[in-house]
Amino acid sequence: MSSRRKFLTDCGVLAGSAGFSYLALGRHDWAEITKKSKKSSGLTLRFKPYELHLKHVFTLASGSRSTTPVMLTELEFDNIVGYGEASMPPYLGENYETATSFLSKVDLTRFESPFLMEDILAYVDKLVPGNYAAKASVDIALHDLVGKLMKQPWYKIWGLNPDRTPNTSFTIGIDKPEVVKAKVREAAPYRILKVKLGQGNDKEMIEAVRSETDKPICVDINQGWTDRKMALEMSYWLKDQGVVFIEQPMSKTSSEDTAWLTQNSPLPIIADEAFQTISDFSKVQGVYSGINIKLMKCGGLRSAYIMIKMARALGMKVMIGCMTETSCAVTAAAQLSPLVDWADLDGNLLIDNDIFTGVTINDGKIILPDRPGIGIIKNKT
Ligand code: MG
Repeated sequence: MSSRRKFLTDCGVLAGSAGFSYLALGRHDWAEITKKSKKSSGLTLRFKPYELHLKHVFTLASGSRSTTPVMLTELEFDNIVGYGEASMPPYLGENYETATSFLSKVDLTRFESPFLMEDILAYVDKLVPGNYAAKASVDIALHDLVGKLMKQPWYKIWGLNPDRTPNTSFTIGIDKPEVVKAKVREAAPYRILKVKLGQGNDKEMIEAVRSETDKPICVDINQGWTDRKMALEMSYWLKDQGVVFIEQPMSKTSSEDTAWLTQNSPLPIIADEAFQTISDFSKVQGVYSGINIKLMKCGGLRSAYIMIKMARALGMKVMIGCMTETSCAVTAAAQLSPLVDWADLDGNLLIDNDIFTGVTINDGKIILPDRPGIGIIKNKT
């Protein structure tokens, strides 16, 4: 028995559970579980595991990895299918088992119409605490479905100007100088680079990048700095190196030190690990200059849209980011990008087995597809 089939059996959602069917697709050891609607015209949710393969081993302050587990979702109504995705890098605590358990509980047959988005997503949110990536996979699929039913892309439904999309940064992981230089050359099409720091070789990393390019850089420390005076000195040094902001310099629990750094730093300090969803605003206001919103942290587009509006009301900067994801979740997030200061939407560019086509990058700038829903099409496999 495959490990995937075993956990599905362990979760009790395979043979013997009324309402579920299981199909092993074989070629890539995929599995699929379908929760069928009791009503022929109702909403049908499907989900299946998929493993993303990274082009390069990805190293940040918390460790290295070469794959990311995702759960793909489909939400069908009136023969129209909306696509969604949960990306579950290990440090977030979600995995195939938790997503299977959560999605097995989601019963959308109780809703007669997908247009009841507030009711549906409030129900999904309250079902079980946490599980934000799994919740995002339903939220994204619902947005895609409803946009397709309305025959409009979400940026148009929200009234956003597609010309206002920012440049996306391209991420350079922590590595030896020669590898960093090669990655910088590979990132030639991008106008801003996001450099991962926080493992003790920060200056060496930045000097390697600067030996290749004078493009603007943002840096992500991933909580790697521990001393606030050193952090402040580094922020001045980084500003001199053409860095535009610093993401999550110290531990997400170091509010006092981070607030001091934000007050004194010449560069904006952005919360990532310290900020997950709406309830975290009270923790970051006055501590950070801005927030990094990710659909997998906050539960999807509905929360992300509200959080952008809240951040603006509080005078905070906004960045939209992603995990390693297919073009499904990345293109969904891109629909919101005309509203943000900075975008880090390169997760689909870091994998070599994307199964969707969606957002594209032209001379570094995000180009929103003029297609309904979240704007993706499924690649032929
Ligand atoms: Mg980050």
